[in-house]
Amino acid sequence: MPEGHGCGIYRNRPRVCQRFSCAWRDGLIEERFRPHDTGIIGDWDAVPGGLGIVLTVDPARYDRNALAELIDSLSPLFKEVEVVYTGQQRLPIPRPQTR
Ligand code: SF4
Repeated sequence: MPEGHGCGIYRNRPRVCQRFSCAWRDGLIEERFRPHDTGIIGDWDAVPGGLGIVLTVDPARYDRNALAELIDSLSPLFKEVEVVYTGQQRLPIPRPQTR
């Protein structure tokens, strides 16, 4: 576990989480965007030409400001950023134009 990315419920995490390591835990998302505080979990993987990340959002409790800031901070790092509201369809986030 990367320093500064402690997962407080790690020992008692849900079974589905036991084989899963989110982008925050992997150190790819800043400490301040802790999933349990923001209601947003990042899952990253390789995509053609780089890395992609899917942000799964709990619509009942997510922090809207954190989502906007998180998208801004991730867009330069990831080739693809998608947002999934639990139970709803994926919304691809347009990447900023590179110069
Ligand atoms: S969402 Fe991330 S930080 Fe939370 S239990 Fe799962 S792996 Fe750990």
